[in-house]
Amino acid sequence: ARDVVPEKPAQAPATETVKITNRDRVIFDEGGQTKGELADYYEAIAGLMLPWAAGRPVSLVRCPQGRAKKCFFQKHDSGSFGPDVHHVPITEKDGGTEDYLYIENAAGLLACVQMGTIEFHGWGSKVADVEAPDRMVFDLDPDEGLDFADVKQAAKDIHDRLADIGLTSFAMLSGGKGVHVVVPLTPGHSWDAHKDFSKRFAEALSQAEPDRFVATMSKAKRKGKIFIDYLRNQRGSTAVLPYSARARAGAPVAVPIAWDELNAMKDAHPFSIDAAKKLIERASSKGLAGWGFAEQSLPDL
Ligand code: ATP
Ligand code: MN
Ligand code: MN
Repeated sequence: ARDVVPEKPAQAPATETVKITNRDRVIFDEGGQTKGELADYYEAIAGLMLPWAAGRPVSLVRCPQGRAKKCFFQKHDSGSFGPDVHHVPITEKDGGTEDYLYIENAAGLLACVQMGTIEFHGWGSKVADVEAPDRMVFDLDPDEGLDFADVKQAAKDIHDRLADIGLTSFAMLSGGKGVHVVVPLTPGHSWDAHKDFSKRFAEALSQAEPDRFVATMSKAKRKGKIFIDYLRNQRGSTAVLPYSARARAGAPVAVPIAWDELNAMKDAHPFSIDAAKKLIERASSKGLAGWGFAEQSLPDL
């Protein structure tokens, strides 16, 4: 009888398995949100976030002393996350192998928050086959001083051009300054094909409308324009995941929106971690049901 282990309830709430210490530590000075509140946000939003965050190599923005203090971008394990944060070995460009991080459930999200994580960024492929991208992101980065209306129009134009070539796309407000246009793809093409397609799509756009768009990194060339950052689409790059909190003033979150909602948005950060309940209600609305899902492959470009 001494081998009998009490059975765990099938769906133990994450907080029963991950202890959050220093719940009262203020992480966001501007609005006073604490580490405990950040943990509560992720626990509440886990059901919405995990379809994007689970089973995917992730990088973390950690700010253990709060967002106003030192933050760092972490790709590899430091050995301290505990059993809910997993490792996947991935071959690097130089031929060596590095362990990347992934999570599978709410406990994984919370284990990262316990270690000071604010933001979750994901690869464009899943752990099951990291060489097979399943998501393309056009990250629209407006130059300083550009109006958010210009960013919204750019996102809509990209949506329309993608639709012209048969691709369904979705809009996400980054929680920062820009909009991400997300194109789900059925795995089956290489990273080279993935990057190449996104590069040529972005370059075609900047050539067609050079006054509005730029597809090169060079800061000097971005003046008054929107940089179509297609570089999120190369092997090893990441983009902020839907519903991730951001380490920015006001504790904003990256949030999926419906195309017909975009017009009404005043900026790229309309929701904060205080709005978990609202975000959960919104997610089942007509415009958002099915956000981010489509079975489609890259066409020839
Ligand atoms: P915004 O709308 O304000 O531009 P964003 O999330 O799109 O918000 P960017 O700076 O455009 O921010 O995106 C940079 C992307 O590069 C992030 O989404 C992240 O995945 C990745 N990134 C951020 N910091 C680092 C870093 N230190 N090293 C490598 N990649 C990073
Ligand atoms: Mn951006
Ligand atoms: Mn960018």
